[in-house]
Amino acid sequence: MSVTLLWLDVCLDAGLEYIEEGMNDAGTAPSFFCKLCDCSFTDIMGKLMHAKGRRHRLAYKVLWLVLYLLLCLSFCHYLHALFILFSS
Ligand SMILES: [Zn+2]
Repeated sequence: MSVTLLWLDVCLDAGLEYIEEGMNDAGTAPSFFCKLCDCSFTDIMGKLMHAKGRRHRLAYKVLWLVLYLLLCLSFCHYLHALFILFSS
């Protein structure tokens, strides 16, 4: 498998950790719930198709973009606090 295909595979499977596996209400069949998109599936193929879908990948990217921006903001506040501490 080439590096490009491997990277593409990683990108397409992104966010699988946000899909929880459980049992249906009767406890007779597996059930899957996506915490990012707030939707559920009744079989493994539905889970995999959802993880590769546009809606799930967009929700995953938005989540990580927000986390990245918060990290950058907190780092800027940290640098600002250091600047104030050492400039006075
Ligand atoms: Zn999802």
